[in-house]
Amino acid sequence: MVFVSSDSPRLRLMAVHAHPDDESSKGAATMARYVDEGVDVLVVTCTGGERGSILNPALQGRADIEANIAQIREDEMARAREILGVRQHWLGFVDSGLPEGDPLPPLPEGCFALQPVEAGTERLVREIREFRPHVVTTYDERGGYPHPDHIRCHEISVAAFDAAGDPDLFPDAGEPWQPLKLYYDVGFSPERFTALHEAMLAKGLESPYEERRKLWEESREKFRVPNVTTKVNVADWFERRDAALLAHATQVDPEGWFFKVPLAIQREAWPTEDFELARSLVDSETPEDDLFAGVRERVA
Ligand SMILES: [Zn+2]
Repeated sequence: MVFVSSDSPRLRLMAVHAHPDDESSKGAATMARYVDEGVDVLVVTCTGGERGSILNPALQGRADIEANIAQIREDEMARAREILGVRQHWLGFVDSGLPEGDPLPPLPEGCFALQPVEAGTERLVREIREFRPHVVTTYDERGGYPHPDHIRCHEISVAAFDAAGDPDLFPDAGEPWQPLKLYYDVGFSPERFTALHEAMLAKGLESPYEERRKLWEESREKFRVPNVTTKVNVADWFERRDAALLAHATQVDPEGWFFKVPLAIQREAWPTEDFELARSLVDSETPEDDLFAGVRERVA
């Protein structure tokens, strides 16, 4: 494990997410580990999550929560970022909601996914030029799962990564800065769920992934097969990840599948968070175990 020594320049990691809570369910343990190692970590949240469903059964049907959901989600985010030790900025777009039904209903007027890609890209370029990250993480082109805000988050992240260093693009959005690596989060891979599922069965415990695995087997062709290049060992940061996710109290069921596998089993069966290297301007051999592989040498 490589630690940042106090005399080397501080490394910076930016994680771009669609909604408050996404930072705590995707790559959260990785962020907590890097924070502990002295890396400056900034989460950029594209939307306020105003259209998130209340998934905690204990809080469902509460008029006071529904009436104040935007403020509540801001407060939940404040607690989560404190737990993770990250800084966080809002990009200021409005949640598009997850359209459901057949045919799908139209997206609500003014939402993030209906804004031009360029509008989101410009705001994110401004964030990149201000924070000057060495590494950026986002979702793959399917958004990790097909929520329109996640797909849009992917689109603006890739466009901003490519544009931020070019002085001819978005000249009013700050001094050019080129991040060195771009990653896609691969948190919810079928391989991980299968490993956890089998580890639970091997211990004689009930697996929470039975349904999920069946669904995945039936629709295998609909999923993009991620090319995992990078596995960061974060077994010691799972508590922080779970605590941060639970801070988004309206958005998670504390009795849900996410929390069903004992951490000791997770540490044994799948101790890493995984990523796909999508862009790199440095030399680093894959597979890697560090998002800053090849970057540390460059920055030093
Ligand atoms: Zn989301």
